[in-house]
Amino acid sequence: MRVGVPKEIKNHEYRVGLTPPLVSELTQAGHEVIVETSAGSGIDFEDSDYTDAGARIVGTAAEVFAQADMIVKVKEPQPQEVAMLEARHTLFTYLHLAPDPEQAAGLIKSGATCIAYETVTAADRSLPLLKPMSEVAGRMSVQVGAHYLEKEQGGRGVLLGGVPGVAPARVAILGGGVSGINAAQMATGLRADVTIYDINNSRLAELDMHFGSQIKTAYASKAAIAAAVKNAHLVIGAVLVPGAAAPKLVTREMLKTMKRGSVLVDIAIDQGGCFETSHATTHDDPVYEVDGVIHYCVANMPGAVARTSTFALNNATLPFVMKLANLGAEKAMAADPHLAAGLNVYQGKITHQAVAEALSLPF
Ligand code: NAD
Repeated sequence: MRVGVPKEIKNHEYRVGLTPPLVSELTQAGHEVIVETSAGSGIDFEDSDYTDAGARIVGTAAEVFAQADMIVKVKEPQPQEVAMLEARHTLFTYLHLAPDPEQAAGLIKSGATCIAYETVTAADRSLPLLKPMSEVAGRMSVQVGAHYLEKEQGGRGVLLGGVPGVAPARVAILGGGVSGINAAQMATGLRADVTIYDINNSRLAELDMHFGSQIKTAYASKAAIAAAVKNAHLVIGAVLVPGAAAPKLVTREMLKTMKRGSVLVDIAIDQGGCFETSHATTHDDPVYEVDGVIHYCVANMPGAVARTSTFALNNATLPFVMKLANLGAEKAMAADPHLAAGLNVYQGKITHQAVAEALSLPF
């Protein structure tokens, strides 16, 4: 198959659909890979890294789309990319179509086979192509939290791990799923005093087994969260109710009880956020203050560590990219129902029930 990798054109997007090592896997399996010049330059992949891996470099995205059968990207296609899609193309990328009727209309019109990373499933019902980004966001949340706790950043002036003779900072993690456990790993590594709150008792038991005495766990009742917020220096919001807006676990009233200069990191902001006072921010201007509490609510945290995120994403997409290239989209999806769950648009129709319902389109 001829696989194409255009340069990402969304603002501040430095990730790239295929790393040189994944290109190598494809070319060694006999596939042709066409990469737009400087597609990976934002994270220091040179064109020569791609040619060494067996790819062919072309000068424009238009050439990639004209010459490739499958397009592998990171972000949803922008209007000028949608305009280049044809019925013969397979598109494999994050789509996030539910809130984006304009993109949906464009993909329907193109007739292309559009497979969304975010709806590909795994046997345990998890979403394997979303997981790496939650891992990145979870780990980053502690790093940014520690940074904004510094006095010069407007924070309380506390060191997460404390020092001998001075107690460590208290970190409350709301939601102990993928991003929550990754946040806890970083926070315990820095020797903070960590408590994870969740409403899933079996998850709390797993976390308790995993961390032993390194953390505390607590059922996420309203009272427990109110007490946690009052005492914590850093609160990390990492909850998810699949398919729904994040529950507002920390109210404005609770915020008023927090220490001045404490920090909230709302990872769940892409689902609306789990603090009442959260609103989405960007890497350009990541924080704001309410009642003396710093809020960090960046909706695409992994973009800040684009190189790590690209490798993490490629590790997860590799088996699916190989299947699609080896078998072609139709046979690959017939052979793998988890990959088929990723199909959002096919032959001019929405093929994913939740996406169709969100867009009020026929399914
Ligand atoms: P997950 O499903 O692995 O974990 C969510 C956890 O929240 C589960 O353990 C669940 O039991 C718990 N939960 C649900 N309701 C709760 C409640 N009321 N109180 C306490 N716990 C509750 O989800 P995840 O992969 O860790 O993702 C978490 C959020 O982070 C999602 O909204 C995801 O989209 C988002 N995310 C954001 C970024 C970013 O850049 N901001 C990046 C990646 C993921």
